[in-house]
Amino acid sequence: MSTLKKDIRALSKDQLMSFFSENGDQAFRGKQVYEWLWKKGVHKFEDMTNLSKHTRQLLEQSFSINHVEVDTMQRSKDGTLKNAVRLHDGLIVESVLIPTAKRTTACVSSQVGCSLDCKFCATSRLKRMRNLNPDEIYDQVVAIDKQSRLYHNKKLTNIVFMGMGEPLMNYNNVLKAIEKITSSEGLGMSPKRIVVSTSGIPKMIKKMAEDQVKFNLAVSLHSAIDEVRTKIMPFNETFPLEDLRAALQFWYAKTKRRITYEYVVWDGINDTTKDILALIDFCKFAPSKVNLIEYNPIDDGVFQQAKTSVIEQYVSMLEAKNITVTVRRSRGKDIDAACGQLANKA
Ligand code: SAH
Repeated sequence: MSTLKKDIRALSKDQLMSFFSENGDQAFRGKQVYEWLWKKGVHKFEDMTNLSKHTRQLLEQSFSINHVEVDTMQRSKDGTLKNAVRLHDGLIVESVLIPTAKRTTACVSSQVGCSLDCKFCATSRLKRMRNLNPDEIYDQVVAIDKQSRLYHNKKLTNIVFMGMGEPLMNYNNVLKAIEKITSSEGLGMSPKRIVVSTSGIPKMIKKMAEDQVKFNLAVSLHSAIDEVRTKIMPFNETFPLEDLRAALQFWYAKTKRRITYEYVVWDGINDTTKDILALIDFCKFAPSKVNLIEYNPIDDGVFQQAKTSVIEQYVSMLEAKNITVTVRRSRGKDIDAACGQLANKA
C-alpha cells in the first residue's frame, strides 16, 4: 500500500548519499542502498543485510518502497507466463515472459490502460488510468528475470515494450526505466536487446531520434493506406502516414537503425494486392523489415486473421522486393497473454 512517506526509489544515488551524510552516517551507505534497490531489487529495508539495524530503522522511518507485487501468475502450455502486477495504489497491469529456444523475452507495460483506440486491441477497451513510474516498469523486468531463472533456468535476454499502453505517451518514464535496465548498476542489459513498440506518434519518434536512443524501434503499422489505417486505428486521422513516414526517415537519418513494422493481415481489411503494394512502397522510405504477426482474437468476431494463402502472398511479394519479412507465431494464447490480449481478464 502507498504511504505518506516518500518513495525511496525516487531518489538518485547522489541524493541517497547526501541523505546519509546529513543524518550523521557515511555517504557510501547511499551506494549500498542504491545497489539493494536497483541491482538486487529488494522490497524491504530489513532485507538490506549489510546495513546495521539502526540504519535500517532510519530508512524505515523516512521512506517507503513502493514496489510492485506479482498478484497472480498464469502459465501457458507453451511455457509463456503472464503476470497480473499490482501497483502500490492497487491498480493492475500485465506483463509476460516469453521463452523460446534462443531467448527469453519480457513483454512489459508502460501505462495502466491505453488512451489510443486500436479497434483490434483488447487493451484499448480499458481507460487509460495513469502512466507507470520508471521503477514500476523496471520492477516488471526484474520480476520476469527472476521468473525466467526460476522456471526456465535462464536469465532474461530481451525486453519488448509491447504490453499495455503506448510507450511514447509515457516517454520520459520509459527512458528512465531503460536507463536503469541498461545501467551496470541496474540489470546491465544491452539496449540492442530492447524494442520499444509504438503505434506511431511522429513527434515522439523524432524526439527519440534526437535523443540518440540506443534501443530498437518497432512501429505497429497494420496498413500503409490512410483510409484503411484510420478505420482500424482511428488516431491515424491525427497522425497520418505522411507525418509518420517523415518521422521515420528522420529516425533513420539520425540513428542509422532499421525499423521493424508490425503488421497483422485481416480478412477483408488489408488482404488485397493493393494493400501489399502500399506496404512495399512504405518500406522503401527507410531501411526496414516487416514482422507479420498472427492475429489474436479478442472475442468480438469483427476481425479475423486472413487466409494463409494471403499471408504467403505478402511474404512472396515483399521478398521479391528484397524486403526482409518474418512471420511471428503467437505465444501464450491459451492464457490471453498474446499481443493485444492484455486486458486484466484473469
Ligand atoms: N501501443 C504500442 C505497444 C502495445 S501493442 C503499439 O501500438 O505498438 C503491441 C503490439 O501488439 C502492436 O504491434 C499491436 O499492434 C499488436 N496487437 C494489438 N492487438 C493485437 C491483436 N489482437 N492481435 C495481434 N497483435 C495485436
